[in-house]
This record gives sequence, C-alpha cells and structure tokens, in this order.
Amino acid sequence: MPTYKAPVRDMRFLMNEVFDFESHYKTLPNGEEATPDMVEAIIGEMAKLCENTIAPLYQSGDEEGCELKDGVVTTPKGFKEAYNEFVAGGWQGLSHPVEYGGQGLPMSLGLLKQEMMATANWSFSMYPGLSLGAMNTIQLHGTEEQKQAYLVPLTEGTWAGTMCLTEPQCGTDLGQVKTKAEPQGDGSYKITGTKIFISSGDHDLTENVVHIVLARLPDAPKGTKGISLFIVPKYLPGKIGEDHGVSVGSLEKKMGIKASATCVMNFDGATGFLIGPENKGLECMFTFMNTARLGTAMQGIAHAELSYQGALPYAKERKSMRALSGKKQPDEIADSLIHHGDVRRMLLKQKAIAEGGRAMIYFAAQYADNMISGILEDDMKKYEHWDSELGFFTPILKGFLTEKGLEVANDGMQVFGGHGYIKEHGMEQIVRDARISTLYEGTTGIQALDLLGRKVLLSTKGKCVRDFSKKLVDFGTKNLRDPKLRPFAWKLLKIAAEWNYLTTRIMLVAAKDRDMVSTASYDFLMYSGYAMMAYFWALQAGVAKDKLENGGAEPAEFYKAKLATAEFYFERMLPSAKGHAEAALKPTKSTMQLKEEHFSFDYE
Ligand SMILES: Cc1cc2nc3c(=O)[nH]c(=O)nc-3n(C[C@H](O)[C@H](O)[C@H](O)COP(=O)(O)OP(=O)(O)OC[C@H]3O[C@@H](n4cnc5c(N)ncnc54)[C@H](O)[C@@H]3O)c2cc1C
Repeated sequence: MPTYKAPVRDMRFLMNEVFDFESHYKTLPNGEEATPDMVEAIIGEMAKLCENTIAPLYQSGDEEGCELKDGVVTTPKGFKEAYNEFVAGGWQGLSHPVEYGGQGLPMSLGLLKQEMMATANWSFSMYPGLSLGAMNTIQLHGTEEQKQAYLVPLTEGTWAGTMCLTEPQCGTDLGQVKTKAEPQGDGSYKITGTKIFISSGDHDLTENVVHIVLARLPDAPKGTKGISLFIVPKYLPGKIGEDHGVSVGSLEKKMGIKASATCVMNFDGATGFLIGPENKGLECMFTFMNTARLGTAMQGIAHAELSYQGALPYAKERKSMRALSGKKQPDEIADSLIHHGDVRRMLLKQKAIAEGGRAMIYFAAQYADNMISGILEDDMKKYEHWDSELGFFTPILKGFLTEKGLEVANDGMQVFGGHGYIKEHGMEQIVRDARISTLYEGTTGIQALDLLGRKVLLSTKGKCVRDFSKKLVDFGTKNLRDPKLRPFAWKLLKIAAEWNYLTTRIMLVAAKDRDMVSTASYDFLMYSGYAMMAYFWALQAGVAKDKLENGGAEPAEFYKAKLATAEFYFERMLPSAKGHAEAALKPTKSTMQLKEEHFSFDYE
C-alpha cells in the first residue's frame, strides 16, 4: 500500500518560488507570525504527524470501520490516540483567533495542514475538518456567549463539530428542510427532526459534539427563506453525559471513507440555540462555503497524490515485456512498467493533476486569506470583494479537481493491473474513498450550475471569466517570444479567447432557452477547469525556466521535471477541453427532446 510522504519540496516550490507567500503574509493583519521559519516548522511538524501517526491508520481504519453500539459510535483502533496527539499539538486552532484559544495564523496555513492530513488519511481528516465548519459558523455568526461556550472547546479540539443540513427528502434542495424549532420562551428552542448522512455525527474522539443544524421556526416562510440555524450540542455545556434528545439513529454502510462515521441523527425535542438572524440560516451556513469547498477540492488532489505515491514505485519495480524503443534493463527479465508509454501517460496524468491542482488551491488560498483580512479588519467591503473573487474559483476547484482526482486515483489502480483491484495493495481503497468527493459539499452538477448559472451568467454577466482570462492573456503576451515558453503562451492566448467566446455564446442562447444553462453547465465547468489549470501549469513552467537560468532552491532536474510535466499537460490533457467546448455549445434539443416515458420501453 502507498506509504504517505508529504510532498514538501513541491509545497515549498509553490509557497516560496511561485506564489511568494512570505510577501503575501506581510500584507495580512494576522500574517506577522507567519514567518518563513514558522511556515517551515508547520510543514515539518505536520508532515511528521501525518507520516508517522495518521497515515499508518489509513488501511486499518478502512478494514475496521466505525461501530455503533448502545447509541455510541466508536472509531477504528488508533484514531483516538492520533486525534489526542493532533489536539496536543494545538493543530485544530491553527488559523482561528487567539482570543478563543487558537494560534491566529492565516487561513492558508490551515489549508496546508489540511492537505497533508487529507492525503495521509482522508477519513481521519474529516473529524477535525467538520469541526472547522462549525467553528467558522460560530466565529462569524455566534454571540460572544456562544463563542465562549462552544468556540473555545472546538478550537482546543476537546469538542468536535458537525454540519447538519441533509434530510431524507433533500440534500441539494435545502428549501425542503422539515426539522422544526420551537421557541421555549427562555431563549432556547426545542429541535425535532431527522438529519441523514451526517459526517462525524457521533464518535469517541471528543467528550462532546456540537451540531450546527438547519431547522424551521413555527410560521417560517416556505422554502429557503424560512430556514434558521441552530447550535444543538450532544451535551449541553456543563452537563456532559446528560441526554437531552440528541441521538444516533444508525451508521450508514458506505462504499468508502469507512473510518468516517456517517450518521443518521435524531433530534427529539433537543435543546438548541439560534445562531444568526431568524430565517437567515442558509446565508449564515453558506458564509464560509467558499473556504469549506476549498477543503473538499483538496480531496481531489489528496487522492491524486496518494494514488501517485502508490503507483510510481510500483511502475518502477514491476517488470513487463520490453520497451518498444528497445531494452531498457537488459540484465533484467523484462523492463519496468515505467518504460511503457501508456503507463507513463497514467503516471503523468496523476502528477499533473496533483501538482497542477495544488497550485490552483494555493493560489485560491491567498484569496481566502485576503477575505479573512476583511473580517479581521471589520471591513465588509473587503470581505465581500475577496469572497466574490474566491467565489469564481470554488465551483471550478471543487467540481473539476474532485472529478479529476477520482479519475487519476483510478489511473493509479490501473497501473497496478489486476493487483490494483486487490485490497492488500491499498489502491482500490483510494478510488472508493475518492468517489464521495464529487457528491457531497454540492455535487459536480450543482457546482457546474453554481459556476455557469450564478457566478458567470447571473452575477457577473461573464465578467468573472473576462477578468480571470486576462491572466492568461498577460502570460501569453509576455512570453510569446520566449522559445521555451512560447508553446504555453500561444495556447493560453487561444484558450482565453475561446473561454470568453464560449461564455458569450452560452449567454446569448440561454437568454432565449433557459435549459441551456443546465445542459451546458457540466461541460462549461470542465472546460473552465482545464483552462484554469493550464494557466497554473504555465505559471509553474515560467518559474521553473527562470530558476533553471538563474538558480533556485531546488536542483536543475526538479525544474526540468516541472517543464516536462507542463508540456505533458498542454499536449496530452488540455486537448480534452476542446471536446467540452464543442459539447457545451450544442443546442439543448439533443438532451431535452426525448420524452420522459421514452427513456426506456422495457421498464418505467
Ligand atoms: C458519505 C457522506 C457524507 C455526507 N456528509 C454530510 C454532512 O456532514 N452534512 C450534511 O448535511 N450532508 C452530508 N452529506 C449529504 C450530501 O451533501 C448530499 O448527499 C448531497 O448534497 C446531494 O444531495 P442528495 O443526496 O439529496 O441528492 P439530490 O439532491 O437528490 O441529487 C441527486 C442528483 O440530482 C442532481 N440534481 C439535483 N438538483 C438538481 C438541479 N436543480 N439541477 C441539476 N441537477 C440536479 C444532483 O447533482 C445529483 O446528481 C453526506 C453524504 C454522504 C454520502
């Protein structure tokens, strides 16, 4: 099975040489402490924790899974000890305010931490990950009293959190939420309803679990405008161990992420407390959605990276036939898999997605830092500006990177041949674990609608594409005469023009035919993902070329490999964008014409 090794050289390349995080941190109100030494210490210490403690529980966690007995969920062996080590290191509060027990460091450092944990053991990382969702919500919308009562233990990591949105009848369409909240006259509410698929709904890692629950007040307006948000702890503060109506109905049996407890949660008149204004629950819940979705986008690169870490040594070790260009290892019975073009195709795809996706997320993480600066400086204009900038990235990162992460996790399994299908090697687990990433936190289809329908057409009339594609044009015009970068520059110029053309054409058709938004959205999302990743590969190639000429922190071979991977991406992967562009522009007729009753003549 893959042995996780934190890709610290690639992380440093992006942090120091591509995106200059040192200068970026100097612009942040909470960036003073994020010195290069501190960043190095965080990367080094987190890498150790992940490699030595968290990663070794990946396969055993999958085999053992979670257990529900007498209403209590137990996590797999070793999880509690690993979690305690994580908490003792103060990791949970890394990017949360000092006044509530955190370390107050920039959000992007929290994302680095999450990346390593996510790759080492995605299921494990979900427990602290879900807590972050609850912490962010309370930090932004909670009263001071709520922050003291809940945010402090959550930041310490002694309590954990969940996000309870989904109900049996609805996951995407939250306007259908039925859970009820009845005011008790003392400032509290009785919460009654069932939530399903709740990650980390219950477990033995912490003494308490704080649920953030969407529910309806009596006489609330129908649909999304009548939903409020409540804090419903498993145990009320000061009453640990006393049941007040929060229970686990069952544990879901799942395809993957088996070490993550996915619970049916029953609230039977449980005591809850309103957080944020009445009927504004969805707005409050979605405030931090952009950053939450960066966390899920991370799952795409996590599985790409881990699967690559498994496939690469196998492809070097396993022998099969001879390379077409002649024997590469004449003293061996056959040449290694890595000498075959088709195996290289799969490995390079994995590498391109892991490293290209990492670059996309690190760049967006700087936007997230700027957004948080707005909150820290009480400058809502700044907050909204950066939230909206980030808003263009999130559906692309979440939608595209999780789809591609899943695809290349599968490629890693393919490199193993039949052995990839056998549990022992750990490659099939990565595929099973990756599968959920395109489903939760908004399915790929919903990300696509969000991107095309909301962000591109409704909110900005194509401006967000025009703005971002300027970066492609700038790179293109600047590097068109450079013999090494010209191929990247030229293609970026073409992509920038095509992306804008695509947007305008869809906008014109959609004005007359609303179905166009839904029928074109997936292809538009994938096109946008390929286009955006092309820019970030070109950027890395540009830095690599510069470091080759002027010297950098890494040896020349590192930068040559970057240039080679960029070339592979542009020549072998980017052409897929064309197919998506062509499909996105087709009239809606071919998708919409078939009558519902004609989808099958053999069954309903
Ligand atoms: C392992 C796991 C963990 C989860 N963790 C949590 C959690 O912690 N908290 C929580 O609240 N929820 C959680 N969920 C729920 C998850 O977020 C939902 O399953 C997801 O949002 C999809 O909702 P749904 O299952 O109801 O699908 P539906 O909403 O029924 O969607 C079904 C299909 O229809 C498509 N679709 C729906 N509406 C439209 C539309 N208007 N246009 C185009 N296509 C559409 C969707 O893209 C999807 O392909 C989890 C789910 C799983 C499986």
